[in-house]
Amino acid sequence: MKKVVKFGGSSLASAEQFMKVGNIIRQDESRRYVVPSAPGKRFSGDVKVTDMLYDCYAAAVEGQNFDDKLDMIHKRYQEIIDGLNLKFSLDEDFETIKDNFSRKAGQDYAASRGEYLNGKIMAAYLGTEFVDAADVVRFNDDGSFNDKVTNDLLSERLSGLEKAVIPGFYGAKEDGTVVTFSRGGSDISGSLVALAVHADLYENWTDVSGFLIADPRIVKNSKSIEIITYKELRELSYMGASVLHEDAIFPVRKAGIPINIRNTNAPQDKGTLIVESTCRQSKYTITGIAGTDGFAAITIEKAMMNSEIGFCRKVLQVFEDNGVSIEHMPSGIDTMTIFVHKDTFEEKEQKILSDINKAVHPDHIELESDLALIAVVGRGMKSTRGTAGRIFSALAHAHINVKMIDQGSSELNIIVGVRHEDFKNAIRALYEIFVLTQL
Ligand code: ASP
Repeated sequence: MKKVVKFGGSSLASAEQFMKVGNIIRQDESRRYVVPSAPGKRFSGDVKVTDMLYDCYAAAVEGQNFDDKLDMIHKRYQEIIDGLNLKFSLDEDFETIKDNFSRKAGQDYAASRGEYLNGKIMAAYLGTEFVDAADVVRFNDDGSFNDKVTNDLLSERLSGLEKAVIPGFYGAKEDGTVVTFSRGGSDISGSLVALAVHADLYENWTDVSGFLIADPRIVKNSKSIEIITYKELRELSYMGASVLHEDAIFPVRKAGIPINIRNTNAPQDKGTLIVESTCRQSKYTITGIAGTDGFAAITIEKAMMNSEIGFCRKVLQVFEDNGVSIEHMPSGIDTMTIFVHKDTFEEKEQKILSDINKAVHPDHIELESDLALIAVVGRGMKSTRGTAGRIFSALAHAHINVKMIDQGSSELNIIVGVRHEDFKNAIRALYEIFVLTQL
């Protein structure tokens, strides 16, 4: 058994957190490859080291004195080193970083030092080899990620190592220029390492016990999801549920490696297992509920629309020409409604309306803003009758008017559109009917 373990920023924010991580790693011999993030927040209101680095580098670029800002970062690491009683110093590294900041080595280089330094501490703490991600994660000259070369470099380097620490979030071009992934990108690094070493499991340790069925800010004490498929996860993430960086899924999914989201502060919890497919039914008909606010709907009405060949295409063309992405498109016989993100639409509203008028000469166009979309997702819906019925009845009981309903043909999700002011109550009503009453 071979596991890759990635630890997020809050799991490595202090010496105390490092000790929890050390225990987790030592508890299981198969936890061989460790991918750390930079130290995150220790308490609410604290600042992540990555943000401190961005800020410090911005001062350097503006030609300001950045000594104090860099000292503060050094102090964060020194506190961890002291708290772990390590005979280990980052003094030389900080000298190098200072020089490189002065000669403006780049924002990505600056941000990457968070993971680089934390990786060095982790390697010293565990007594494990440190592998600099700049040597094994490759970006092309244009800044895009090179998966093929990365996989070759990582497999070759790690095949000779029983255990290793590989910092997350960054890599480098062939000429050594450091490049980072987007924020939260250590998740991607962990996934790449798991692919390269043919891991049996990619454990992603964070500060929650996996995915929750519903957003805990809306549903208090929401239960967590034990097992979820990649497809279900994609549906929920699209609607705003986020624990894992989206791009982290592709490498391991391709190789059939499951991801287990675990909680560093509650290692006894099993967390959420993300798999390609499973015959294990979820406990409830649904796997999860997620929603996003801030949609606008444009309803176009025209008598005999259904017999006008090319009508939909012409309307869609207007949105494409104006660079506005369409999220959903429910339609009737003589109406079609287009759901778009309000912010992107509002900028071009009048131009789009006039283009639609020119393209299809509708009888009437109606606009509605402040709508929310809620996805009820679950592989169990396929084999269960009456899911849509229950959704409607839960919402009706909560006095919520449904503006739209859309069921994908895969029967993996049902999306309902409601008014902004009903958004939270709708999620609570759906959670109640599917989870609390266990229908
Ligand atoms: N430290 C980086 C960030 O704050 C990357 C990561 O934690 O995954 O976004």
